[in-house]
Amino acid sequence: MKTIFEKTNGVDGVCIGETEGIKLEGVIPKELLREGSIGLPQLSELEVLRHYKELSDRNFCIEKGFYPLGSCTMKYNPKVNELLASLEGFANLHPLQDDEDCQGALELMYNLQEKLKYITGMDAVTLQPAAGAHGELTGMMIIKKYFEVKGETNRTKVIIPDSAHGTNPASAKMCGFEIVEVKSNERGQVDIEELKTLLDENVAAIMMTNPNTLGIFEEKVLEISKLMHDNGSLLYYDGANFNAIMGWTNPALMGFDVVHLNLHKTFATPHGGGGPGAGPVGVVEKLKDFLPSPTVEFDGNKYYRNYNISHSIGKVRSFYGNFGVLVRAYAYILMMGDNLKLASADAVLNANYIKEKLKGFYELPYDEPCMHEFVLSGEKQHQEGVSTIGIAKRLMDDNIHPPTVYFPLIVHEAIMIEPTESESKEVLDNFINVMLKIAEEIKENPDEVLKSPQKTPVKKVDETQAARHPNLTFKGL
Ligand SMILES: *Cc1c(COP(=O)(O)O)cnc(C)c1O
Repeated sequence: MKTIFEKTNGVDGVCIGETEGIKLEGVIPKELLREGSIGLPQLSELEVLRHYKELSDRNFCIEKGFYPLGSCTMKYNPKVNELLASLEGFANLHPLQDDEDCQGALELMYNLQEKLKYITGMDAVTLQPAAGAHGELTGMMIIKKYFEVKGETNRTKVIIPDSAHGTNPASAKMCGFEIVEVKSNERGQVDIEELKTLLDENVAAIMMTNPNTLGIFEEKVLEISKLMHDNGSLLYYDGANFNAIMGWTNPALMGFDVVHLNLHKTFATPHGGGGPGAGPVGVVEKLKDFLPSPTVEFDGNKYYRNYNISHSIGKVRSFYGNFGVLVRAYAYILMMGDNLKLASADAVLNANYIKEKLKGFYELPYDEPCMHEFVLSGEKQHQEGVSTIGIAKRLMDDNIHPPTVYFPLIVHEAIMIEPTESESKEVLDNFINVMLKIAEEIKENPDEVLKSPQKTPVKKVDETQAARHPNLTFKGL
């Protein structure tokens, strides 16, 4: 596909008015004035539209096909949320406006905080962090400051299971903690006996996600939280997998002290490609005074931003977070109501359905009932000549977005599948059939599978070259 510069045909698409006769001498220093043409592409409005439409058509998105991206909950996000987030009063409001001028926006934020408190069981929530990983960092900063204020600066270690998402150790490390890994047992859960041996007076916290990244519920979570609390340590809950548990249980019931949610995964807002997200953080009562400032409060009469938080870790983001994402999440939660519980139930059912249909054909290293996702291993197919990346690429030729691959790290040739609640049985069955067909193709003619993708706008790329030397700039005609 040609770039828009190459398509230039000299047509003036936009008339910016008369510039002749406007004297810039004396206004802008001469050496700063451009001499030649600005070099913008010149095309008609229709040609520009066609160009960008063609570009966007080359992209894959949930509106185009099944997107079983494990760990990332790529669910359908109702379009009414987009409409609501773009309402003028929300979209054009300036974040520096006085509290009196933005009561509606503050009310929405306050109400969303309340809903998230209810859903997580936590006692206070900040909406500031802009992503899950940012929420983790915020949570770890809160934990760090909590121990500082308590005078327990010896607590420098954070325990993290070997199945954890990479952002967990990264966030704890960025906060200056030392990472201690705890192994998973043969059932894909935290090895509690090993955990006991790691506990001492220097442990600040454990970071866990439940269900964990294998899609397995940590059955010993209450025992773990007791162990941690008895040790004077705290528990951090990575809420990226919240789509599995909404309304059925919550991190407070499991004994966690700090939680982040990924609004862009669980509560609407399409994500990926670095688009805006939100990673609100909830905390138990004793950590309330450590939240980033300001929090959004209600005095019974009006909503206001509270900058007066005794041990606040300070600001973690400009203004108050990604407000548009908050509007979408609030609309989604109001619309779903009690059905959030049903969404989790369907997400779990769909994952188990696919798992049971595929497990005879692909290895299933942890053969347990799963929650909203599960992890296969492509080890058998790897031995037959096509590794997991080849399976992922092959799926694209059937208009299916590749699942998350090679994660979690404890599974060889991992294929992590999360169907979400959005899909019909027909879509799930089609995916199952395609996966079975691929397993068959690999047995019969692995070399043919390795030629995929062939039907996508961009065919097979050199992965290493693309990662190490990305070509992102148009260098000129
Ligand atoms: C996605 C994810 C994160 C990080 O969230 P971002 O919003 O991508 O920063 C953390 N933990 C788990 C388990 C995740 O799936």
